[in-house]
Amino acid sequence: MDITHILDGLNERQREAVTAPVGNLLVVAGAGSGKTRVLVHRIAWLIEAEGASPHSVLAVTFTNKAAAEMRSRTEALLDAPPRAMWVGTFHGIAHRLLRMHWQDAGLPQNFQIIDSDDQQRLVRRVLRSLDLDEQRWPPRQACGFINKQKDEGRRAREVVTGEDHYLVTQKKIYESYEEVCRAGGVVDFAELLLRCHEMWLERPDVLEHYRNRFAHVLIDEFQDTNTIQYASVRVLAGDRSSVMAVGDDDQSIYGWRGAKIENIHRFSQDFRDTGIIRLEQNYRSTGTILKAANGLIDNNTDRLGKELWTASGDGDPILVHDAYNEVEEARFVADRSHEWIDGGNGADEIAVLYRSNAQSRPLEEAFLRADIPYRIYGGLRFFERAEIKNALAYMRMMNQRHADVAFERIVNLPPRGIGPKSVDAVRVLARERGVSLWQAAKEGIADGGLRGRTASVFAAFLALIDDMAAEAGTHSLREIARVCVETSGLVDYHKKEPGERGLARKENLEELVAACRRFETERTFPLDPRGDGGDEEAGSVLDDFLDQAALESGEYQAEAGAAVQMMTLHSAKGLEFPLVFITGLEEGLFPSKNSDGEPGRMEEERRLAYVGITRAMRQLYLTRAETRWMYGTDSYNPASRFLFELPDDTWQEVRLGGAVKRARFGAPTPRAVDAEDGALRIGQRVHHGKFGEGIVMQSEGHGERARVQVNFAEAGAKWLMLGFANLETLD
Ligand code: ATP
Ligand code: MG
Repeated sequence: MDITHILDGLNERQREAVTAPVGNLLVVAGAGSGKTRVLVHRIAWLIEAEGASPHSVLAVTFTNKAAAEMRSRTEALLDAPPRAMWVGTFHGIAHRLLRMHWQDAGLPQNFQIIDSDDQQRLVRRVLRSLDLDEQRWPPRQACGFINKQKDEGRRAREVVTGEDHYLVTQKKIYESYEEVCRAGGVVDFAELLLRCHEMWLERPDVLEHYRNRFAHVLIDEFQDTNTIQYASVRVLAGDRSSVMAVGDDDQSIYGWRGAKIENIHRFSQDFRDTGIIRLEQNYRSTGTILKAANGLIDNNTDRLGKELWTASGDGDPILVHDAYNEVEEARFVADRSHEWIDGGNGADEIAVLYRSNAQSRPLEEAFLRADIPYRIYGGLRFFERAEIKNALAYMRMMNQRHADVAFERIVNLPPRGIGPKSVDAVRVLARERGVSLWQAAKEGIADGGLRGRTASVFAAFLALIDDMAAEAGTHSLREIARVCVETSGLVDYHKKEPGERGLARKENLEELVAACRRFETERTFPLDPRGDGGDEEAGSVLDDFLDQAALESGEYQAEAGAAVQMMTLHSAKGLEFPLVFITGLEEGLFPSKNSDGEPGRMEEERRLAYVGITRAMRQLYLTRAETRWMYGTDSYNPASRFLFELPDDTWQEVRLGGAVKRARFGAPTPRAVDAEDGALRIGQRVHHGKFGEGIVMQSEGHGERARVQVNFAEAGAKWLMLGFANLETLD
C-alpha cells in the first residue's frame, strides 16, 4: 500500500510524531504548529502503516465542530472512510457508552440528558423541598458546587465537610439532587463523565472489553482535560494501550471549569515510556500576528516556555480600532467585513470573536443591516432559546410521559390556567407516592388526590399530550415537530408577543421543524457518528434528536452557505480564519472583571487572548468601545491591558475616515476625569518634563492614588501618578 501521501505536507518533526513507534506520545507545541494535523495524520498512519483497525481508534477532541473536522480530515487521507472509528468529545463519547451500557451503568434505558438550564431548575426544586432560601443558596452556585465535585470524581457521600455550615448544606443539596436525578432518570453533563468512569471501575469486564478494543487513544487539546477526564483516560489505557496526547499549555482556558494544566505536565510520569515531541514552526499566521501573540503570552509566568516561528512574511500590521460605543464598534466590524467580501473573499473566512455572549447582539444587528450573512456559535444557542426548549419539552413529553423536567417546563405554557399552587399539589403527590409528576397527576385525577378545578385543568393537559402523541405517532420526526409546534399552541402563543421578538420566536420554531427534517434525512451525529459495525442498539430518531439537542453546545448551524462566524473566544479554540476580529478589548470585559486580583485567573484570561490572536491567519483587528451598554447599564472601561502588552511594532490604529495612523488610541471623545483630580479630562493635551507632549487616555484611583495614562507622541503610553507627574495642560 502506498503510504507516502500520509507523510506529504509534514515537516520533519511532525513526521517523527506521526511515525513514532506505537506507544505513549506527548506532543506539546504552540498554536498553529500542526498539532491537530499531526493527530489526524497519526490516525491514518496507524491504520495504513501499522495495520491498526479503525475499530481500535478512539479520537477525542473538545468541540463537536472539531470532531466533525477531525473525522472528515481523516477520511480524506484514507482510502476508505473508517466508519468504525470513534471520534467525538469526551461528553459525546461518554454519552454513547452509557446509551450502550445503560444497564452496566445503573441507568434506566431511556435516561435523558439535561443541560445546565434544566439542572438549575432541578436544583431549585431540591432547594424548595429542603426548605432552603434561594437568596441564600443560589441555584447557580449549588450547580457549580455539584459539577465541581463531579468533575473531581466525588459523589455526595464522599464530600468532606467537617463542621463548615456552607459545605454541610451544599452536600445536603448535592445528596438530594442525586436522588432527584436518579428518580427522574436524568443525567447532567458532568454526570456523563463520572458515570462512565465509575462503570469502568465497577465493571472490569466492560473495561476489559474497551481496553482490548481501543488500542489507540488520541486526544487533542489535552491542556483542557479535567480530573475525571484524565482519570478516565488512564483507566482506559491501563498499561498496554498507546495514548497520544496533544496540547499547548499556553492555550489552557477552562481552568474555571475544572481543567488542569498540570495534566500535561503529569502525562509523561503517569504514562509509561512517553515520547515527547515539540513543534515550533507555525504554519497558520503571518510573522506579525505571531510576534504579537508571543509578546503577549510572555507576560505570563507559569509556562513551559516555547518559541514559535514562521517562515511566512510579516504581513500586515494588526489594526486596532477605538470605537465610541458598542454600536460604532459593531458597525466598524461589519464595514470592514464588507470590504473584505467586496475584495472577492468569502464571508466564511471571517470570524468575529468576543469574550461574552452578551456582546453579540449589536454585532448581529450591524451585520443584519449590512446584509452580510452570519452565523452564531454558542451563546444564543439555538437549542437553548426558550421557545425551542419549550418545543423540545413537548416532544420529550410526547415521547416519555414521565419526564419531570419537561413536565414542569410546559405544564402551563402556553398559559392554560395551571397556577403554581396546582403544580405544587401535584409535586406533593408525586413526592408522597414516589412517582413522576405525570403519574401523580393521573392518579390524583382518578382517585381524588386532586380535586375540582385542579383536577380538570390537569386532565386537559394530560389529554393534550396524549392526543399530540397519537396524532404524531405514526409520522416522521418532522411531523412530530410540526404537531408539537402547532397543536401545543406554542406558535400562536409566540405570535402574540409584541414586535420583532414574537416574530423571531415564531421563525425559530419553524426552523426547528426544518432542523428535524434535515436531521431525519442526514441522521448524522456530528459528535458521535453512528454506524460503526452495529455493536449498539439504534434508538428512535426522536430520541437521537433530543439527545443531540441536549448535548450540542451551540454548534448548531442555522443555514448552509458562506457566512461570517461569530462566537466567543472559548469556542474558537482549535479553529483558524484568514480574517479575525477580536472585539471588546476593555478592562473588566476582557480581561473579565472576575479575574481581577486573582493572578491565576488573569493568566488564564491572557491565554484566552493568546488563543484569540492565534486564530488569525492573514489579518487581525482588535477593537474596543469607550462606552458600552451592557447588562442594562453604560460602562466606561479603560482599554484592555492586553492591547498594551502587544509589541509596539505589530499594530497600528485605525481612525475612521480611512486614515491609518500610528498612534496609541488617538484622541478619544472628551470625558470628565474624576472631579477630585482637578483640571484633567480624557482627551486633554498635556506636557511632561521628560516625555514631552501627549494626550490623556484614561485615569484611575482617587486623590493621592490617582493615576492617569498619557499617550506621548514620542514615548508612547505611560501611566503616571498625578501627584508626582507635574503635568502641564495645553490648549
Ligand atoms: P491550535 O493550537 O490552534 O489547535 P494546531 O497546532 O493544532 O493549532 P493545526 O490546526 O494542526 O495547528 O495547523 C495549523 C495550520 O497549519 C493548518 O492550516 C494546517 O493545515 C497548517 N499546517 C500544519 N503543518 C503544516 C505543514 N507541515 N505544511 C503546511 N501547512 C501545515
Ligand atoms: Mg489544534
